[in-house]
Amino acid sequence: MNLYTEHAKSFAKIFLHFLFPVSCPVCGRPAEIICPDCAKKFFAEKIIHKKIENLEIFSASWYHTDINQIISLFKYSGVRAFCKPFGREMAKFFPKPDADYLAPVPLHVKSKRNYNQALEIAKGMSEIWNIKIFEGAEWSREMPNRAGLRAEERMKLNSDAFIIPKKIKALRVAIIDDVCTTGMTLLRFSQACEYKGAHVVGAYTLAAVSG
Ligand SMILES: [Zn+2]
Repeated sequence: MNLYTEHAKSFAKIFLHFLFPVSCPVCGRPAEIICPDCAKKFFAEKIIHKKIENLEIFSASWYHTDINQIISLFKYSGVRAFCKPFGREMAKFFPKPDADYLAPVPLHVKSKRNYNQALEIAKGMSEIWNIKIFEGAEWSREMPNRAGLRAEERMKLNSDAFIIPKKIKALRVAIIDDVCTTGMTLLRFSQACEYKGAHVVGAYTLAAVSG
């Protein structure tokens, strides 16, 4: 199903919507930034599950579908509000984990974004699951932007790439991000949390790259 060609016609129209938000950009219904029915239309039929080492990763949609147009919009700060409705639908799509906190992957220090899309998604999930957000984790040093890394460079990312507050010790955390590409960033962040004594119950992303 191609929602854009059927209903919204063009990427530009979607973008304009954020300048003049009066209706759902997909169905045209007067609504918040995107209505829940339309948000979940971007999801796969069932939960996408990957396992990398000990980390269980659950994703709501395949990256190669229309969702990548949504995710490409996340870089515009004007569409920050778009992340949260997707987070809410993700929380309805996945079974609620046995977690004390949701830990969004921190925004990369070199990111040009002025907000963390993973945090915004986590806020939507937090509303539905009623699980608090663990904040304060950050990248520990300047590293190449992960989007531009080759697979082998990602492999070199160590768990010490992150600074995790000590208060994470003994907490059960679910990791949240927008996209699972190779899964290595999620794995390293998970390892950094576990190194500080957390128990990671899984990682949840809006989209997953296949393969
Ligand atoms: Zn709609």
